[in-house]
Parts: sequence; C-alpha cells; structure tokens
Amino acid sequence: MIIDARKISWVRSDHTVLKNVDWQVRQGEHWSLVGLNGSGKTTLLKMINGYIWPTSGKLTVLNRPFGTCDLRELRKKIGWVSSALSEKIRPGERPEAIVLSGKFASIGLYEQPSPAERAMAYELLHKLGCKSFENRPFGLLSQGEKQRVLIARALMADPELLILDEPCNGLDLFAREQMLSIIAELANSPETPSMIFVTHHVEELLPCFEHTLLLKAGTVFKSGPTGEVMTPEIMTAFYDHRVSVQRQGRRLSVALNDDAAMESKF
Ligand code: ADP
Repeated sequence: MIIDARKISWVRSDHTVLKNVDWQVRQGEHWSLVGLNGSGKTTLLKMINGYIWPTSGKLTVLNRPFGTCDLRELRKKIGWVSSALSEKIRPGERPEAIVLSGKFASIGLYEQPSPAERAMAYELLHKLGCKSFENRPFGLLSQGEKQRVLIARALMADPELLILDEPCNGLDLFAREQMLSIIAELANSPETPSMIFVTHHVEELLPCFEHTLLLKAGTVFKSGPTGEVMTPEIMTAFYDHRVSVQRQGRRLSVALNDDAAMESKF
C-alpha cells in the first residue's frame, strides 16, 4: 500500500483543516487530487511527507506507520515536485547537477557522482524532453522547462511515490499541453512509480489518472474511479455550481454551465 489514511484529521486552534480523511492508494495506481484553493491539499501532502502529524486517525505511507519510521528515509522515497521546490534551486545551477542532487536528497550536489549516476541523470533529462536545454542554468529556463528538470530530479531518487503538485501552474496553453503529454508518457512507463497529480483545474485530468479524490473544505467529498467521480451531478455538488462534464478525446473536462457562469460573473 502506498498511502493508507484512516480517518485522519488535522486541527489548528479552533480550525479543522482536515477532517476524517480516508484515502487508500495502492501500488501502481495513479491518482488525481482535486480541490479548490484552501481545501486542504497542501496540508494533506505535508502530512504524507511527514512534515506534520495527524491530530487524530492513522496514517501509513509506503507501509511505514507514522511514529515507527525514520521520516527522512521515508521522504527519500517520495518525490514531491512543487513550485516551493523550484524556488529553492539556485538560478545558476545546471540541470545535470540538479537531477544528480535528487540521488542524494539534497538541494545542492555535495558528493561526487559515479559515471553510472551521471548517465542516469542524462537519461532522465532526455526522457523528460530536456535535451535542448540540459546545459542551461536553471534561472534561464521557462516555467515548464524547470518543472521537467525537477521531475527528472525526483525520479533520480527512484521514488516509490511521485507527487506532481500543480505541475501546470503558470504554464501557457502550449506549455501545459506539452507537460501533460510528458506526464502521460511517464504514466505509460512501467518504471514510473505511483503518481499523485494535484490540481484545482479539472480540465487537466489525464486518463492515466484513473482514480480521483475530491477534497472540499478539508473533507473527502468523493473518491474512486475518475469516471465515477467526475459525473455532472457530483461535480455540480462539489463546486456548488451547475457544471457539465464533457469528454474530449479520452480527457474529461468540466465547464460551468452558461447561466451559472453568468451568475458568478455578475
Ligand atoms: P490548498 O493546498 O488546498 O490550497 P491548504 O492545505 O494550503 O489548502 O490550506 C487549507 C486550509 O487550512 C486553509 O484555510 C488554510 O488557511 C488553513 N491552514 C493551512 N495551514 C495552516 C496552519 N498551519 N494553521 C492554521 N490554518 C492553516
């Protein structure tokens, strides 16, 4: 089991941020975690990575129950790619060194990598479509290019879980589609660990994320196979707005119904 959350809650003073969250992610499953801003996604991810502990409930990540495992060791097995990570990378750092640093779970590169490790770093950079800018300093890369380097870095540690935290944030339409097709390709590869794709944009959901958890105001609104969760009825109740769910190719997309869009506009 990758994640086994049983009725976990997180309470801060009088504010319940997460309430009775149940979530089971099994080996090989790819999930999307969907919630509006403030729904508790980041708090849940922090808990999965052992930065905060549940106030109540039981959480087991990668078969290591909290309280009995070395959290630093656990974190080495989880690749968490987020904009917060991107901000920690020095602008002058080159992609090769950034990817190699993933092996040592550090931000800078403090150990001498072996030729095999170097070869693996380049292989990952190429897999993530970074060949044309593999020698360019990080600070000069576009948002999408940075994300790709950071995903390669996360894979360098051979993680058992890969968390892609809003990977399309700040990307234009074309960079977003490019990022999504790279993620879809990753999902096709048997070496890729279970992935969690975190977003508040439902139109980004790829078919490879065959399970979805909808988080609303700190509670699980619905979770299960994406096709069963993303129905017009469920999504209308989730957003408190009438929405329609369309299928575009193999991708589902949710749109505000015209009159609902007008209501929210005025
Ligand atoms: P999301 O990632 O979905 O935008 P967050 O997990 O960041 O949501 O936040 C969920 C809610 O919990 C927000 O209302 C936020 O203000 C609150 N929150 C987050 N961290 C803390 C904290 N340390 N203390 C109190 N409230 C918090």
